[in-house]
Amino acid sequence: MSEWCQNKKCPEKKTKGQIRGNKGSKYYQSNKSSGYYEYWCSMGCRDVWWNEHKNTCIQAVGFIDKQIIHLEDAWYVEYRYDWRAEQQDRYYLRNLLKNVDQQITREQAQSSEDIQAGHDWRTIDDTQAKKLAVTLGLAS
Ligand SMILES: [Zn+2]
Repeated sequence: MSEWCQNKKCPEKKTKGQIRGNKGSKYYQSNKSSGYYEYWCSMGCRDVWWNEHKNTCIQAVGFIDKQIIHLEDAWYVEYRYDWRAEQQDRYYLRNLLKNVDQQITREQAQSSEDIQAGHDWRTIDDTQAKKLAVTLGLAS
């Protein structure tokens, strides 16, 4: 892994922070890669790199076929916040392929850890949502 931005055109940004060297022999250099973008200094540099190398990447990873989520696996929990409502935090167990959009309790929608941590917006994952649907008699 390199500490430098992987976009070879990075120095062409010509920012003040990229200037090095002494008077008479100054030059622009690449930025260091950032923690967030890992191999690049910015989203812009990542985009340049991606546009040049995406075909190489997809060939290396391999193509996949169309993906499908079947009706019986289409369960999820949605969090909705409504500042106008008396009860502002609301959770719904949904499966739009089965026309189900049922309000559930916070205890059903969240893990006890998330409730304790006060993470109102976090919900159980889709596998747990399906289990909840079975428990509530909405699925088998
Ligand atoms: Zn860069």
